[in-house]
Amino acid sequence: MIRTLKVRLYPNRYMMKVLNKLCDYRRYCWNEGLATWIDMYDLHTIDSTNPRPNVYSVRNELVTNKADWQYQLSARTLQLAISDLGKAWQNFFDKTQLDWGKPRFKSKKAVRQGFKTDRAKIVNGKLCLDKPHGIKTWYDIRINKHEDLSGELKVVSVYRENGKYWASLPFEMAPKSKLLTNQNTAVDVNVGHLNYTGGLINTLPNHLIRLYQRIKLYQKQLAHKRVINGKKANKSNNYIAVRAKLQRDYRKVTNIQHDLIQKFTTKLVTDFDKIVIEDLNIKKMQMSHVASKGLQQSLFGYFRQVLSYKCEWYGKEIVLADKYYPSTQRCSKCGHIKKGSDKITLRGNAKHHTRHNEYICYDCGAVLDRDTNAVANLLSLI
Ligand SMILES: [Zn+2]
Repeated sequence: MIRTLKVRLYPNRYMMKVLNKLCDYRRYCWNEGLATWIDMYDLHTIDSTNPRPNVYSVRNELVTNKADWQYQLSARTLQLAISDLGKAWQNFFDKTQLDWGKPRFKSKKAVRQGFKTDRAKIVNGKLCLDKPHGIKTWYDIRINKHEDLSGELKVVSVYRENGKYWASLPFEMAPKSKLLTNQNTAVDVNVGHLNYTGGLINTLPNHLIRLYQRIKLYQKQLAHKRVINGKKANKSNNYIAVRAKLQRDYRKVTNIQHDLIQKFTTKLVTDFDKIVIEDLNIKKMQMSHVASKGLQQSLFGYFRQVLSYKCEWYGKEIVLADKYYPSTQRCSKCGHIKKGSDKITLRGNAKHHTRHNEYICYDCGAVLDRDTNAVANLLSLI
């Protein structure tokens, strides 16, 4: 089982240069590899005695033509760039992977630049990259997390974004189970809050709302600055400055949301054995008119992803409700399902003048909180 930790890196000035060089080198290898791949393919279609491009032939081509300066950089960068390129082509030709486009050339101007290595190690809580031959000065890189960094380290990706450095550290680890509690729960996902049997988790604290507003402002400013006097202006200093601020705030939003979800999912897998959740894609569609929906929706996806892998790690079970299960319309007391104009929407029910947080059953007369009712309905699935 793989467990990935994302850590901030604090390289010294020397290692910062090394990391930058490796980012550039990865991009160089990818782009050279892609150009070679396309050339070889063209030659092959003209005359089929020429070899078909694949990971090995392209890599051999690049290795034979290595320039002197390339020997001062980790050889693994080239190997991994070409093997990823091979995967990208494979995904492109795989018809079941609809979202995959053709591999593209990488730009120097892209916000995120990075490289991969399978020779990295953790030594005394620091990240130690492989030192190329003939290089004398070398330092380990300080990282911000000191929690559990044990296990076998897999392919590490290092990347730079807005002048900051990060690494994804995937560790191979043995699954460990949490104690069984004989308690079950269900989670109802809503914009701004998650409901479960233990109450409510606010996913929209005030500082997050302020960030959403600021992001909206920057997006608007960027749209205005993109064109000046009818000309493209996305290289102007103003544009770049606002874009950097926007990225900073996106990063802050992600950090806050991830923190909330990490804590909540840990609580769920510690306190409960089975957890019912609904099909979140349906939920997303229902919320198409909600403000900052993109940022809230990314939270749903992340919630499900984190909960699934934590359940797997700790030997707990996740139960997915059928996407047609009427968790909002069903009465948890008598099982009556609201239909037609009786249905409740995000704004309540217009015919019966109920508020958005009310569930009133016209069959058994139960008056319930809308979200508590949904949680109870999901829970009855176990
Ligand atoms: Zn009822």
